[in-house]
Amino acid sequence: MNLELLDEVTKLPRIGQKKAAALEKLGIRQIQDFLFFYPRSYEDRRQVKPIAALSDGETALVCARAALIVRGRGFGRKQTLKILAEDDSGTAEVLFFNSSYLSRAFKRGESYAFYGKISKKDGRTQMMHPDFQHWSESEARILPVYPLVRGISQNDLRKWITGALTQVQLLNEYIPEETRRRNHICDLHYALRNIHFPEDPRKMQEARFRFVFEELLLLQTGLFYIRNQIRSVGSGIAFSKEVKTKEFTDRLPYSLTGAQARVLAQIEADMESETVMNRLVQGDVGSGKTAVAAAALYKAVRSGYQGVLMAPTEILARQHAQELEKQFAPLDIKVGFLSGSLAAKEKKEILAQLEAGEIRILIGTHAVIRESVVFSKLGLVITDEQHRFGVEQRDTLAKKGENPDVLVMTATPIPRTLAMTLYGDLDISVIDELPPGRKPVITKALGSRGRNKAYQFISEQLKEGRQAYVVAPLIEESEEVSARSASSLFEELRGRFPDQKVALLHGAMKQKEKDAVMEEFYRGDISVLVSTVVIEVGINVPNATVMMIENAERFGLAQLHQLRGRVGRGRHQSYCILITEGKTEVSRQRAEIMEQSGDGFVIAEKDLELRGPGEFFGMRQHGIPELHIADLVRHVRILEKVKEEARLILDEDPTLELRKNELLKKKIRHVFRDADSLKI
Ligand code: ADP
Ligand code: MG
Repeated sequence: MNLELLDEVTKLPRIGQKKAAALEKLGIRQIQDFLFFYPRSYEDRRQVKPIAALSDGETALVCARAALIVRGRGFGRKQTLKILAEDDSGTAEVLFFNSSYLSRAFKRGESYAFYGKISKKDGRTQMMHPDFQHWSESEARILPVYPLVRGISQNDLRKWITGALTQVQLLNEYIPEETRRRNHICDLHYALRNIHFPEDPRKMQEARFRFVFEELLLLQTGLFYIRNQIRSVGSGIAFSKEVKTKEFTDRLPYSLTGAQARVLAQIEADMESETVMNRLVQGDVGSGKTAVAAAALYKAVRSGYQGVLMAPTEILARQHAQELEKQFAPLDIKVGFLSGSLAAKEKKEILAQLEAGEIRILIGTHAVIRESVVFSKLGLVITDEQHRFGVEQRDTLAKKGENPDVLVMTATPIPRTLAMTLYGDLDISVIDELPPGRKPVITKALGSRGRNKAYQFISEQLKEGRQAYVVAPLIEESEEVSARSASSLFEELRGRFPDQKVALLHGAMKQKEKDAVMEEFYRGDISVLVSTVVIEVGINVPNATVMMIENAERFGLAQLHQLRGRVGRGRHQSYCILITEGKTEVSRQRAEIMEQSGDGFVIAEKDLELRGPGEFFGMRQHGIPELHIADLVRHVRILEKVKEEARLILDEDPTLELRKNELLKKKIRHVFRDADSLKI
C-alpha cells in the first residue's frame, strides 16, 4: 500500500483540526480511509426535471437560475432566505429557514442544482432546504450519500473523496488474483470509483459486491489466522488426568444437567490436552455456567495451579466469590476476592497471599488485570459474561500465567453463524438446557396505561412473600431523553407500597451502598428493588418472581432477555412485565417475541433480524473490526463462499507468508488495527 495514502487526513488542504476530529468519529484518519468510507445510499441525479413537470411530494433534481434572492424577516441566524429559481419551463421558490449563514452562498443570475422534496401549494412550486450546488452539466450523475456526523457535510465528503479518488492508482490490489477469478470479483480501482461515483447502477452493484465480499474475507481470514496463531502458540498446560471434575460436581446439591455434563467433559478434555484451551461457553441465563466454571477451577487447583475468575461488575464478582467460597472452603481451597473498592490494606494482603500461592482461586472485577496482581502459578483464566470484556483484556489476564487455559462464558446468546465468525479464535460449547423444574417466565407487554394493573399484580406477589425488580433506563430524569428514571420510580413505588421495603440501586451509588442494598435484597429484607440495568447480569435471588421493565422499547431484546433471566430462578412461577411506549411495527414485534419466546437463541436471531448485527453486538467491543458494508444476516450466502475462500488461502499459506498474499496480510492488519487481537 502506498505511504501517501496512509497520510493523516490533516495533510489534505482545508481539513483543520476540528473537521479532522469529526472525521475521526467516522473512522477516517488517513487519506485512504476516505476511499473505504462507503456511501449509505445514492441520489440519482441523472434526470433533471423541468420545473413545470414537477409534482407534489416527489424528490427531484432541478437546475435553475437564481432570478431573485430575497433575504426575509428575522435577525441574525433566524433569517429566512428565499430564492426565486427559474428554468425554461417555469419558476419555483427555494426556501431556507434560519439560514443567514447561507446568505453569501447564492449569486443572482447564476445557475444551481437543487435536489430535494417538492411541494406544490396554490399553484406555487416550492423546495425547502434542498441540497444545492453550483450547476454544471457534469453534475448530472449518480451521487453518493454518506453517513454524517456533526461538523461534516455531504458536500465536504464528496469533495474529499473525489480528491482521494484521483490517487487510487497508487493502491495495489490486495485480493489474490485466484480468489478474484474464482468469485468474479471486480478490480480494486474500478470498484472504488464505482462505489462512490457509479457510472450506472449495474457498476455500482459490481462494486458493492466486491466490497461486501472483501470485508467478509478480511474479517474471516483475519479471524482464522488468529486461530492458527493461537493453535501454534506451542504447548500449554496439561492438567492432571488423575484429578477429575466429578469429584467436585458429586458434592453439589444437585446433579448436572446433560448439557452441563457434556460441556464440562469438553473442558476437561481441553484441560488435559497440552494444547492451550480457548473455549467459549455460551449458556442462556440460569443454565448453570457457574458450576461448570467452578468444576474447571477445581481441576486446575488440584493439579497444582491457580485459577482466576473475572466478572464485569462488582456485584456479580462478589456473588461469585461468596458462592465459590462456600463450595471450596470445605475442600480446603482458599478463595480470594479483589476489586477496586477494597481498602488498600485488604488489597495488599490479598495480593501477598496470591503471590505466595496461598490463595488458589482469585475472583474479582477488572481489578484482577492490574499490573500489581501477580500469581505464583496461574493455570486457568475464566471470564464471565465475556461480552463485557474486550479480547485485549482477556489476553492481558492470560499473560499473567504461562500459556494458561482460557475459558470465556457468556449468557448473550449469539446466533451460531455469527458466533463462528466473531469468535473465529475460540472453540464453542453451548449449554442448551436449563436445570429441571424451571417454569418458563410468563411475559406480558403493556402500554403505560397498564401500569396500575402491573402494580396491583406486584402487590399480590409481595403479599405471598415474593420479591420484585423494577428496572428503568435512566438514573435521574433527564431533559434530553423522555424515559422513566429509577429515582422517580423509586418515589412512586414507595408511595404505592407503604408497607413494604422499597430500595433503590444504581451504578452511580457508592460501592458500599450498593453492597448493602444487594445484601438486604438477598436476605429478603427488601421487597422491591428499583434499579437501572446494573442488575443485568448474573444476580441470583430465587425468591424474586417479578421483573417489571419500564420503557422496554429502549432496551435491546437480548438485554430484556437478560433482565428477565433475573427471575424464574426458584420454585415459584415468575413473571416479566414490559411497559412499553413504542408504537411502531418493530416495537410491536419486539414485544410479541418477548411474550412468546423464552429461548435466548431464538430471541437473539430475531433481534439480529430486527436490528442488524452492528447494533446487536457492538462488535468493536469484542476486539473485532466493525462491518461497514457487509451484513451478517443479509449476506450469509456470501459469507459461506468467503469461508471457503479463507480456508483455501490459509490451507495453502497458514501464516500468509507467500508473496502473493503479502498485500492481503497488510490489508488485514490495517482492518484489525483497532482490534488489537491480531498479532501479525
Ligand atoms: P448462569 O448460567 O446464568 O450463570 P448460574 O450458574 O448462576 O447460571 O445458575 C443459576 C442457578 O441454577 C444457581 O442457583 C445454581 O445453583 C443453579 N443450578 C445450576 N446448575 C443446576 C442443576 N444442574 N440443577 C439445579 N440447579 C442448578
Ligand atoms: Mg452467570
